[in-house]
Amino acid sequence: MTESTESTNAPSPATLAVWGGEDRYLVDRATQVPVVHSVSFGYSDFDEWYDVATGVAEGHIYGRNTNPTVAVFEDKVRILEGAEAATSAATGMAAISNTLYALLKPGSKVISVKDTYGGTSLLFTEFLPAIGIEVELIDTTDFDAIESAVAGGCDLLYLETPTNPTLKVLDLPRLIEAGHDQGAIVMVDNTFATPINQQPLSHGADLVVHSATKFLGGHADALGGVVVGRPDLIEAVYHYREINGATLDPMAAYLLLRGMKTLHLRVERQAQNAHAVASFLEGHDRVTRVNYPGLSSHPQHDVAARQMKGFGGMLSFTLDGGLDAVKKFIPHLRYAHRAANLGSVETIIGPPATTSHVECTPEEREMLGIPEGLVRYSTGIEGVDDLIADLTQAFDSM
Ligand SMILES: *Cc1c(COP(=O)(O)O)cnc(C)c1O
Repeated sequence: MTESTESTNAPSPATLAVWGGEDRYLVDRATQVPVVHSVSFGYSDFDEWYDVATGVAEGHIYGRNTNPTVAVFEDKVRILEGAEAATSAATGMAAISNTLYALLKPGSKVISVKDTYGGTSLLFTEFLPAIGIEVELIDTTDFDAIESAVAGGCDLLYLETPTNPTLKVLDLPRLIEAGHDQGAIVMVDNTFATPINQQPLSHGADLVVHSATKFLGGHADALGGVVVGRPDLIEAVYHYREINGATLDPMAAYLLLRGMKTLHLRVERQAQNAHAVASFLEGHDRVTRVNYPGLSSHPQHDVAARQMKGFGGMLSFTLDGGLDAVKKFIPHLRYAHRAANLGSVETIIGPPATTSHVECTPEEREMLGIPEGLVRYSTGIEGVDDLIADLTQAFDSM
């Protein structure tokens, strides 16, 4: 785990994305962080070895616990989120599950929303109840209902905003306060927004988690997860993770770090592109609905405008004609990977039936408010005119 040492006169996020966390690991005048492929770290002096091994002195002992390249990655995310402490994991799901398993015990109660990421949702419906943890999932945008559920008692309130794939937005300041009124730990999945667009800790959240696989890395070439926030909680998560063993690999940490240098540039461009694409789709007669928090037609647009600096690169839309229309439309696109990923420099498209909600039946998706004609669109950094021209020709070729 990585903890803050510096003072807080913070430069802009664009600067922090480039420089944050790197200086103390540059070796032999290299300007770039090394990939330290070493399982263990050796000490000739027993007393020094003992001090590092027992956490009295700083340093690395064994790669399952800590690694210099991984530490820089943790530190960069920590700095970008304005957090005091950070720890990482092999994937986003490892970060989320390690955090929940570390902080909850049989008899604990979790409250969350129905629209969490598919894997998270399975933790809530399948794995946590199996060990005696009570989970209550509330309608995502019914803030009154979430508040009154929390008021009934809650150890951990788990939020995610914007949500996948329908881009619903949760009122962070309001719900975080409700959680804290009950003494609950409030944890937020900030994967879709990124720290460039939204900083849940600044609204009072205790923990922020990311699938670094998505926007943080941004190049669809490395899996990773990270959780930042209150040092006492991060310490517990780190302790669980070092034993559980879902450690982030140094090569993946390097790729994520390299990707993060352009995080601000990419995310800003993706949000601009997404906004333009969403506006275009909203005016198209083959499209019955567009979900993008930046559109004034979005039901929580005001909430998003209050708590987000940008509206992000993710959107989804419903095609007139259901799944048949999706099947006819998607193959014609030239500038979109048809894949289950998101947040990369390339535009990625996919229906929930093969991406976020692959494990549900059509009826279950309908119940979750996910129509069969929905398509999720993760906007890349391409020229926006090319994206809109591509969508136009795909509609025309249907
Ligand atoms: C992808 C994703 C996850 C899981 O991350 P992995 O790196 O795939 O394990 C969690 N939350 C959100 C919002 C995601 O998009």
